[in-house]
Amino acid sequence: MTKHIFVTGGVVSSLGKGLTAASLALLLTRRGYTVRLQKLDPYINVDPGTMSPYQHGEVYVTVDGAETDLDLGHYERFTGIDCTQASNYTTGRIYSTVISREREGGYLGKTVQVIPHITDEIKAGISAFDADDVDIVITEIGGTTGDIESLPFLEAIRQYRQEIGRENGLFIHITLVPYIKAAGEMKTKPSQQSVGILRSIGIIPDLLVCRCEKHLSEEHFAKLALFCNVDRKLVIEEKDVDNTIYEVPLDLANQDVDVYILEKLGLHVNRIDMSDWKAMVDTLISPRNGEVEIAVVGKYISLQDSYKSIYEALTHGGIANSVRVNIRMVESENIEKQGAEALLNGVAGVLVPGGFGDRGIEGKIQAVQYARENRIPFFGICLGMQCAVMEFARHVCGLDGAHSTEFVADTAHPVIDLMEAQREITDKGGTMRLGSYPCELTGDTKAMEAYDRESIDERHRHRYEFNNQYRDAMREKGLLFSGLSPDGALVEIVEIEEHPWFVACQFHPEFQSTPLNAHPLFSGFINASVIQSSSRVGCQGA
Ligand code: GLN
Repeated sequence: MTKHIFVTGGVVSSLGKGLTAASLALLLTRRGYTVRLQKLDPYINVDPGTMSPYQHGEVYVTVDGAETDLDLGHYERFTGIDCTQASNYTTGRIYSTVISREREGGYLGKTVQVIPHITDEIKAGISAFDADDVDIVITEIGGTTGDIESLPFLEAIRQYRQEIGRENGLFIHITLVPYIKAAGEMKTKPSQQSVGILRSIGIIPDLLVCRCEKHLSEEHFAKLALFCNVDRKLVIEEKDVDNTIYEVPLDLANQDVDVYILEKLGLHVNRIDMSDWKAMVDTLISPRNGEVEIAVVGKYISLQDSYKSIYEALTHGGIANSVRVNIRMVESENIEKQGAEALLNGVAGVLVPGGFGDRGIEGKIQAVQYARENRIPFFGICLGMQCAVMEFARHVCGLDGAHSTEFVADTAHPVIDLMEAQREITDKGGTMRLGSYPCELTGDTKAMEAYDRESIDERHRHRYEFNNQYRDAMREKGLLFSGLSPDGALVEIVEIEEHPWFVACQFHPEFQSTPLNAHPLFSGFINASVIQSSSRVGCQGA
């Protein structure tokens, strides 16, 4: 029987519930169990796909094309397990299913209500992974205890655990133990109150994970255990990590959290080996080959979460090359005002990530031009590739004002254009080209060198594509088409032959990078950046 772990959060948001859930999943996986993760989000959007990154951070895309919460990125990076459509349910998605069923006559004669119809639909989502070969499902509930909108989710998990029995399900509550500077003390009262709210709706946490800035004293542990009704050993400290989020699983393992969880669920405690993970963390903290600075030129730069997977994948590329990657976050609109030289001078590599809308687009194109002309390693992703194509068309092929029809509908040179399959689509939600598609690599190219194989599968999220009418003109001027869809119709990767490392792809490689297994394009990009910057330093020295 599949066992269930429910993770809730109290006191404040941004407690890192997703990181904790992902870390626990990693530990349980390493104990020999098959684990699945999912997140239930209380907002009314059917998925986060239509939200600005400023609202919700990055939209993470699964293999099967779900546009999801960025916590799923943590899940995949920590565990290496692919998430699916069943890994993220929102209030909107649950209601939309129930309302469609009501219209179809699925509830004929009945009044459709939050309890039981909405809660039943949530429970159906929770059981979506139940299978003989799945041992444990970890379900994270978004939002904070006390939010009106998360109530149906909490009621659903309460019922679920009641139905499967205590030995098959457990509640983990993540809470904050703040340090009050003026008093010089850590305070347990917010946690007591948060657990109190849970208790009033019938949920008594089995395990309390306490986020804190400083270590908890024995007195704090005892107080939390007593007032929150949790065994002392099941009060876990999760202090802010010193260096990297990848330390979290190691910290939790040191407190035997995984052992207690398995004991509670009546599962055998198999041996665990975290040596590769430890080695990875050591490399991250003390890399052998120094550091490189990479510019990420985007339009949602002020919010760290907007490019979460990009930043993580760059870090992974650093781990693979044993080098620290420092990221210079550059707002593309500022390049428009101050010029590329002012903002990109001295970086070892330039990355232009994906995006939508025309704000800052010219700044991104200037960033591409700067990297191309100064022979700085360049990595373009999705919109970043489209900008690379526009730049090459304008400044190398002489196609003045070349553009994407996303931004200038009547451009004289539509080098990027709406995909044929998108022309009839009017709905905005979930209608892009989404999820994993195959791509074939060709010849003696940087892409082939990085991947070292001919067929790859990568995740997509776009409506526009390279306009094939310009293929010949651009190839003549030295643009290589090193990755194409298997039917040859869609350009997936472009490169500039006469450049140390200039690779741009229509897909999102960042979604498949993990700290133990950096994505080949990210490790290739960092490697090229290291080589370029050391040769430049060498030149200056000479
Ligand atoms: N806006 C572009 C498109 O829809 C690029 C999308 C992206 O970067 N994810 O094709």
